[in-house]
Amino acid sequence: MTSIPLRPSFGLLQAVRELAAALERGDRRRVAALAQQIADGVCADMRVPALCVSVQGRRPSSRAGELHGLYTPGERHRRDTVKVWMMTAKRGQVVAFRTFLRTLVHELCHHLDYTFLDLADSLHSDGFYMRESAMVRRLIDGAGLGSAAGVAAAGRADGRAPAAAQPRPSARAVRGAP
Ligand SMILES: [Zn+2]
Repeated sequence: MTSIPLRPSFGLLQAVRELAAALERGDRRRVAALAQQIADGVCADMRVPALCVSVQGRRPSSRAGELHGLYTPGERHRRDTVKVWMMTAKRGQVVAFRTFLRTLVHELCHHLDYTFLDLADSLHSDGFYMRESAMVRRLIDGAGLGSAAGVAAAGRADGRAPAAAQPRPSARAVRGAP
């Protein structure tokens, strides 16, 4: 499947617009609230369980690079969680809006792989990146923030740091999924 049939609500697109401004101000509390709103909007539109979004400061880094985001399936009755970092590791600069949005959408796509597409594993396949790109485009275009050109190569690093290398399959297994 190359795209998720998301029809973003007005509120969701409004949150995307406000996110751009909040990032520009470096307003972490507002960014966190809006990232949660965007996740809630996508989950509601797709009729899948909501998840908890946590916005962190500086990205953790290692020789493998900087960690942009992380998706962790919840165990049993706990919600799945998404972490997104909003500042670069080295210079502590606020991440560009499109990069941040792409990372958030990337992690949401992992969630949708399990909850909407019912996949046993959520892998970084070609189809996964197509679904991610399609959703980013839909949100950016829908929000009236112009062409999504140039977003494609932005936020591909997630779950790549050693601590996060294998979080999904193992955490998934803990949940007792097939
Ligand atoms: Zn990923």
